[in-house]
Amino acid sequence: MFKKLHLKLTFFNTIILVIFLAIFSIIIYQFMSTRVDKSVESLLNFSAKQVDDINKIPHFKKPLNDGNKLFDRNRFKLFNYKDAKPNYILWNEGFNITETSDDIDEISELKKQAIKVMEENDLIVIKTEINDEKVMLLSKPFNKNNVNGVIQVYKSIELESNLLNNLTTTFLFGGLISTIILGLISYIIAGKSLVPIKKSWNQQKEFVADASHELRTPLTVIQTNLDVALSDEDGTIKGNYEWINNAYTECDKMSKLINDLLLLAKIDSKQISLNVKNFSISNLANEVLNIMKPLINNKNLMLENEIAENININCDEDRIRQLMIILLDNAIKYTPEKGKIEIDIYESKNELNIVVKDTGIGLSENDIDNIFNRFYRADKARSRDEDGTGLGLSIAKWIVDVHGGSIKLQSELNLGSTFIVKIPIYD
Ligand code: ADP
Repeated sequence: MFKKLHLKLTFFNTIILVIFLAIFSIIIYQFMSTRVDKSVESLLNFSAKQVDDINKIPHFKKPLNDGNKLFDRNRFKLFNYKDAKPNYILWNEGFNITETSDDIDEISELKKQAIKVMEENDLIVIKTEINDEKVMLLSKPFNKNNVNGVIQVYKSIELESNLLNNLTTTFLFGGLISTIILGLISYIIAGKSLVPIKKSWNQQKEFVADASHELRTPLTVIQTNLDVALSDEDGTIKGNYEWINNAYTECDKMSKLINDLLLLAKIDSKQISLNVKNFSISNLANEVLNIMKPLINNKNLMLENEIAENININCDEDRIRQLMIILLDNAIKYTPEKGKIEIDIYESKNELNIVVKDTGIGLSENDIDNIFNRFYRADKARSRDEDGTGLGLSIAKWIVDVHGGSIKLQSELNLGSTFIVKIPIYD
């Protein structure tokens, strides 16, 4: 799937770059071509004016094809070339050539232009061919000493058109090489831009697979227990209490799991907004401890707490409560009977510190690195026994992150764990 997408992205990127390159080349070509035409045109205009200025028109004796003297070549450096010498033709009113600086094989097109110019009484510049050579031809009517006629000045544009042809070839050849290079670059860029997409796609796939797996286990347990209860057709609810209770407990676990999954889905789609308000974390911590006390007592755990008084913070109270419950619940779950749990809450350097320490089973270094990943459980069998889903700490991390804080774990296998949460306090 990603291979196809990679190729598609490469193709579209390359197409866009090639289109851009083509437009750029066309603009440069057009610019060059117009500039060249304009230069030749202005040379022809200048030449026509010089021819026009000679008083003897249309009967001058002096041969005008002594071009180098007639035209100031230094002004037209680009055309300082043997073909650059403009030629001229003078037509009288009867459209006969009275003077020319060149031997011309075919005059019909020239005559047509001369007649047109005379009719329109305006200057015309065209590109045509004279003596099998591409030329730019300027035709201009004149009236001097009551004599009418047409001046035509033309100049070979072979050099210019060769120049433009070379430019086209360069663009085509360069374009081909650029397309290959751009294709390769696009391939690399597309590959790089797909990395985070691939990553999140794989995460999503893993998430769905893990979630279905987690949901399947309680469902199987519910089904098996209900099957046993249902097979006892004459039995009473009391008689089948164990099976029904098992199914009920699993339903409870499932409901917790689904709630966590929904929360994570909302987190992923950024549908969760914080309800930030000012509240006393000291009061909240005492309230949470009261809720958890029965669980602590059930396991004969020792609780030590140091909760600084009157610390007020601007946070989402429900989320901070959830964070504290996750950390305390884990400490209780993963600490054997008669163990000790400590909770410290204090303010330091404008930061709220929540420290939850236990003398429980602890975690290995590898577990510490992965502990905040979704569905990660250090000891799967044990965690499942403790109703664990492996989602609590990833939710805890999200809560801390979303409040701009940090969460760290120090732990040693069989000795215990300490979770340290720091959240900035804003006034
Ligand atoms: P769970 O619902 O499984 O407890 P968590 O995300 O809260 O999910 O925790 C992930 C895993 O981290 C747990 O399965 C457990 O293996 C480990 N863990 C969490 N807290 C502690 C702790 N205080 N002591 C030892 N292991 C812990």
